[in-house]
Amino acid sequence: MDSDSTFPADPMPVLRRVFGFDDFRPGQREVVDAVMAGGDVMAIMPTGGGKSLCYQLPALCTDGLTVVISPLIALMRDQVRALHEAGVCAGALTSGNTDEETDAVWEAIEGARLKLLYVAPERLASGGTERLLRRANCTRIAVDEAHCVAQWGHDFRPDYLRIGDLRRALGVPLAAFTATADAETRDEIAARLFDGDPQVFLYGFDRPNLALAFAAKDGPRRQVLSFAAARRGQAGIVYCGTRAKTETLARALADDGHSAAHYHGGMEAEDRRAVEGRFQREDGLIVVATIAFGMGVDKPDIRWVMHADLPKSIEAYYQEIGRAGRDGAPADTLTLFGADDIRFRRQQIDEGLAPSERKSADHGRLNTLLGLAEAQGCRRQVLLRYFGEGDARPCGNCDLCAKPPELFDGTTAVRKALSAMLRTDERFGTGHLIDVLLGVETDKVRRFGHDRLPTFGCGSDMPKAQWQAVFRQMMGLDLVRPDPERHGALRMMPAARPILRDEATITLRKDAMARAERRPAVKTLVSEEDAPLLSALKAKRRALAEAQGAPAYIVFNDRTLIEMAERRPATLDQMAGITGVGAAKLEKYGAAFLSVITGEVPDPVHPARRKLAGRSQGDVYDRLLAAQTDLIRGSDGTEKPLSCSSSLLAKVAGARPDRGDVDRVLGPRYADRFGAAFTAILQEAAEA
Ligand code: ADP
Ligand code: ZN
Repeated sequence: MDSDSTFPADPMPVLRRVFGFDDFRPGQREVVDAVMAGGDVMAIMPTGGGKSLCYQLPALCTDGLTVVISPLIALMRDQVRALHEAGVCAGALTSGNTDEETDAVWEAIEGARLKLLYVAPERLASGGTERLLRRANCTRIAVDEAHCVAQWGHDFRPDYLRIGDLRRALGVPLAAFTATADAETRDEIAARLFDGDPQVFLYGFDRPNLALAFAAKDGPRRQVLSFAAARRGQAGIVYCGTRAKTETLARALADDGHSAAHYHGGMEAEDRRAVEGRFQREDGLIVVATIAFGMGVDKPDIRWVMHADLPKSIEAYYQEIGRAGRDGAPADTLTLFGADDIRFRRQQIDEGLAPSERKSADHGRLNTLLGLAEAQGCRRQVLLRYFGEGDARPCGNCDLCAKPPELFDGTTAVRKALSAMLRTDERFGTGHLIDVLLGVETDKVRRFGHDRLPTFGCGSDMPKAQWQAVFRQMMGLDLVRPDPERHGALRMMPAARPILRDEATITLRKDAMARAERRPAVKTLVSEEDAPLLSALKAKRRALAEAQGAPAYIVFNDRTLIEMAERRPATLDQMAGITGVGAAKLEKYGAAFLSVITGEVPDPVHPARRKLAGRSQGDVYDRLLAAQTDLIRGSDGTEKPLSCSSSLLAKVAGARPDRGDVDRVLGPRYADRFGAAFTAILQEAAEA
C-alpha cells in the first residue's frame, strides 16, 4: 500500500468516523497537529480533557505504530478494549495478557496492521521490547501519566526512567501527557524524557462540569446518606478520613438500598482489586474509601464524589473531586468539614516528622483549603486563583454561586471570642469557651471560677450553633490554632492581633450556621421528561456490557446516552450524529439503542447500508434502492427481474459519478438496466 495516500492529513473525518465526536475539546486540535507534525510534545491537560485522543488520533492518521507507555495494566486493557470497539487495531503487552491476546498482538504486528501498542513500563527493562518496536515500524512514543518520571513526585515509577533511552534508541518523536504538573515537575519531565525542549501545551485547570460545594458537618452520616439518596443508581466515591469509617458508612449506604463497597489500604490486595474491578464494571456502585482509592481508578462516568471528612490540602481536594465526570457530563461534589477536621489536620501536621519550615508550609496549604471551605463568593474563582488562573468569572456551578452566603460584620463576635480565650489563659478548647461566652454554669465553669469573668455570658445574644461557626471560621482563617501540646486548647495567632486591638474588621459567613437542608430533591442528569428513556438506555447498555464482561462505558459513555435521550434519534442516520457514536459502534449497537428509543424493532437494515449511516452516502444509497425498485422489471416493466446486492449498491453509492465509473462498478449486465438512473442520482448528489 502506498502510505502517502492511505493516511489522511486531515484528522477531522477520522475524529468523526472512528470516535464519533463532532469536534475537538479545547486544546486537542493544537496538540494533535503538533504530534502529527512529528515534533516532541509535552501536554498538560486536566483530567478528562481527552488526552488519549491526542495520541490515538495521530496514530490513526499517520504511518506506522505508536507505542503507548502507561503505568496501570487495568487501564491499558480498558483502553485497548475501547479502541477495539471503535474498530481500531490496537493491543497491549502486559503481564496480564492471555496467550491468545499476545498472539493476536504479534499477528497484527507481522501483518503491519497494529496502530497502537500499549506497553507497561516494566517491559522496557527487557532488551526484547526495543527490538520488537523496531520491527513493528514504531514511529512514535506516547507517554501517559508522564509525571511518573519525576523522582520527587508522588507517583514515581523507576521504570519510567528508561523511556528516554528507548526514545534515543528508536530515534522517534515522543509525546508526553499529564494532568498534574507544577513548573518544577514539568522541568523534570522535560529533562528526563527529551533531549532538547519539547513543544509545551498547557491547558487550564478548570473542570467546568464539576459542581463544587462544601457544607459544615451537621450529622455527617445523615448528610452522606442524603447526598447519595439524591443520586441513587449513579456511580460515586465517598472519601473518609479513617479506615473504620469506610466500613461503617458503606454498611449504612447498603442498608439504605445502595450498592456500596468499602476500600482502604488495610485490605488484602486481592479484595482491593475486587472492589476496583466491580467499580469499573458495575453501573452505579458507591465506593466508600480512604485516599488509597484513586490511582487505579480510570472510570470516566463517576457521577459524584463526596468528602465525608476534610481532605488534607487543596491539591488533594482537587485531585480527589477531579476523579468525577471525566466524560465531560455533569458531576457533583460535596465536601464536609467541621472544627474537628481542622483540629485533626493541624495535629497531623504538627505531629509529623517534617522539618519546621515544611510544617508551616503545610499549615499554609491547609489554610488555603479552609479558605475555600469558608469562601464568601464563587468557589471556583478561589480555586482557580490558587492554581494561577486569576481572571475567572463567577462560575454559576458552585453552591455559593447558586446561593450567595449571607455575610455579617463578625468583628465584635471575634473580639469577644478572643477575649474569652485570653482571659482563660489560652488553656481551653471551643466547647468550654462557648459555655463561658453563653454564660452556661457548668461544673467546669464553676471549678475554674470562669463565671466571675467579665466575658461570662457576654455572647448570649447569639445561639450556640453560631458561636461554633464563628470559632470554626476563626480556625479556618488561621486567627486561632489548636495547640497539640495542650490537648487542642486554642491559641491566638498573630493575624488576630489587629482585630483584638480594634485596628481591623472582619466579615464572616452567616449561612454556614444554618442547618443543612433536609433530603434534597432527586438530581437527575436529564429533564424529568427524558429520565425514563435514559434509564431504559442505561439498562440496554448494562445488558450489552455484561454480555461481554466489559464496563458499561465501553459500549457508550453517559454523555452519549444523555444526548440520545434528549435528541431521540429516529433513524440510524440521526443516530450517527450523536457524539460518541462512531462507525464501528453504530454498526454494532446502533439498532439496539434505536429500538429502545423508537420503541419498536427497526426494519432489518442490511449491514452494507448500515455502514453508510450518517454519511451522505447513506442518503444516496436509499435513493439508489428506490430507483432500483422502479427498474426491477426494466423501464417498461416487462423484462426479467433484476436487482443488485446490497454490497453492490453500497459500492455504487461510494463511486464517482462519471459514467465510466458507475458502469465499471456495476458490470455490463447491471449497467445496462441501472447505469443511467444511478449515474443521474450520483450526479445530483454531487451537485447538492
Ligand atoms: P484524560 O485526559 O483524563 O486521559 P480521556 O482521554 O480518558 O481523558 O477522555 C475523557 C473522556 O472524554 C472520554 O470519555 C473520551 O471519550 C471523551 N472525549 C475525548 N475527546 C473528546 C471529544 N473531542 N469530544 C467528545 N468527547 C471526547
Ligand atoms: Zn461559582
